[in-house]
Amino acid sequence: MRAVVLVEGERHELQEVPTLEPAPGELRIRVEAAGICGTDLSIMHGHFPPGRGRPLILGHEFAGTVDAVGDGVDGFAPGDRVAADPNVYCGECEWCRRGAYNLCEQWAAVGITLPGALAEYLCLPARLAVRLPETLSMTAGALIEPLSCAIHAFQYADVARDASTVIFGGGMMGLTCLALANQLGHQVTVVEIHEARRRKALDMGAARVVESAAELHQPFDYVMEATGVPAVVQEAFSWIRTRGTYLQLGLPPADTEITIRPLDINNRELRIVGSFSLADAYPASADMIGSVAPALEQLVTHRFGLDQFDEALAAMARPDALKVHLEPHTHH
Ligand SMILES: [Zn+2]
Ligand SMILES: [Zn+2]
Repeated sequence: MRAVVLVEGERHELQEVPTLEPAPGELRIRVEAAGICGTDLSIMHGHFPPGRGRPLILGHEFAGTVDAVGDGVDGFAPGDRVAADPNVYCGECEWCRRGAYNLCEQWAAVGITLPGALAEYLCLPARLAVRLPETLSMTAGALIEPLSCAIHAFQYADVARDASTVIFGGGMMGLTCLALANQLGHQVTVVEIHEARRRKALDMGAARVVESAAELHQPFDYVMEATGVPAVVQEAFSWIRTRGTYLQLGLPPADTEITIRPLDINNRELRIVGSFSLADAYPASADMIGSVAPALEQLVTHRFGLDQFDEALAAMARPDALKVHLEPHTHH
C-alpha cells in the first residue's frame, strides 16, 4: 500500500509499504478521509512526542471502511463504515481508571507512535472503533477526533449553559469550540486577525467577531485561548470575568512565560484549566457529530490525494485553510 512516511527529521516521502494484516482483536480500515493538524506539524518538528522514532506513518484523525477483521473481533464486518479513537490506552493504570486515557502510562497512538492514517490502510484495536451512520460523510467521520478534543476541554472545564464566551483564534479548534458554545446557548465573541476566518465564525453563529482584543469591552465568563501565541495568551488572561474560567487550548511554545496576578485569582475566584487531547470523549463526540456535522464540514477547506502531502502542508500554512484532509482512495 502507499503511505506518507516520516523518514528522518521532517523528511517525508510517499512510500510503497507492506499492507499489515490485522492482529487478533484488530480491524484493518481502508482510509477514506484523514485530517492533518498542528499535532502532525509538532511531530514533524520533533517537539512531540518526546523521544519517539522514525519511520512513522502520520495521521490520527480519520474515517474509512472496515476491510478485514482479526480473530476474535465481534460486532464489525468488512464493509462497515467506521472511525476510531487513535489513542491506544491500557485501561488499567491510575489515569485510565480515572478516564484520563490521554495521560495513560502506556499511552500509544495511531499516527503518533504507531502507523497512522495517511495511508491506504491502517490497523487498530476494534474496541477503539465506532460505526458511522449511513447519513454521515467520511469527511464528518474524520472530524470526530478534533471535535472530541473540544468536547473533552468543555467537559473538563465544566462549561455551563447560557454564558458569555470569548474565543481567541478562529482556527479549527477555535471554531469547533464556537460550535459547542453555540449549542450551550453562549453569546460568543471570536477574536481573529484573518478576515476569512472571521467571516467563517460569523457564518457559524458567532454573536460578534473582532480583529483584535482592543475592540473588546467587557470581560467574559469563559475565555478560550486557541492560538497558542504567547502575546495572545497574555492578553487573553485580562478578559476573564469574576468567577470566570480560562481555558488553554492553543499550544504555546514550551518556554512561554506570562505574567499573572495570583491575588486576582483569589479575589475574583478565577478558574484556570488546561486540556490535552481527548481523554474519554471520543464516544460522546461520535454521538454528537451528526448534530454539528453541517457546521464542521464547512471547516474542511482543502482536500488532497496521498501523493499531495507537500501541497497539503503548504495549504495548511495559508490563513484561509482550516482543516486539510487527505483522501487516499479518491482521485484528486
Ligand atoms: Zn489532530
Ligand atoms: Zn493506562
